Amino acid sequence: MITLDILIGTANLGKVTEIKRALNGLPLNLRVITDFPTINSPDECGDTYAANAIIKAQSYSEQTGLWTLADDSGLEVTSLNGLPGVKSARFGGDGLSDADRTNLLLSKLSTVDDNHRSARFVCSMVIATQSGEVINVAHGTCEGSIAKAPSGAEGFGYDPVFIPAGYQTTFAEMPLSLKNTLSHRGKALAATREFLEQLFSRA
Ligand code: IMP
Repeated sequence: MITLDILIGTANLGKVTEIKRALNGLPLNLRVITDFPTINSPDECGDTYAANAIIKAQSYSEQTGLWTLADDSGLEVTSLNGLPGVKSARFGGDGLSDADRTNLLLSKLSTVDDNHRSARFVCSMVIATQSGEVINVAHGTCEGSIAKAPSGAEGFGYDPVFIPAGYQTTFAEMPLSLKNTLSHRGKALAATREFLEQLFSRA
């Protein structure tokens, strides 16, 4: 059985953990960008999640000569007309922590009542080969709502305020195994895993 070297193209350790867990058991040698001290992160200048995921996958594969898996994701809040959206990681500007961004989001929703706090997470997940050819694009969404206050210590980003539909607890209060079955990234990763399984079955 061959083993494929594939780079996880993100500096976000929360994403790395989720990706490793979801691809566990496949014949992959998963590399991380800290294995490449001189690697540069590209400018995420796309207008869509898929465009930004492609920018990241192609940039990292060109810099390392490895197959690369990269995602782009964001939180779309209905009462904020879909913001922060593709700019979720930069919401409020540079230099803010996850907690700062979450508090900023809560402050923008301070007058919004319980019935108008719907939101969704969105993710696009891309695989580029060692030559930068994009061979798979997978998508996932997760509907839910924004809590009134943060709770829970798991996960990353806006997890402490995102309550997935059908649940009473935030992503940050759930074990990763449950988040991965419900989340935007978990769904995109399930489709990515299926693609890789088919690829290996033909090899
Ligand atoms: P990017 O995909 O690296 O551009 O970053 C997306 C940003 O959206 C992250 O930095 C988080 O703020 C937010 N985000 C994306 N997915 C999640 C998630 O699963 N939980 C919490 N926040 C997320």
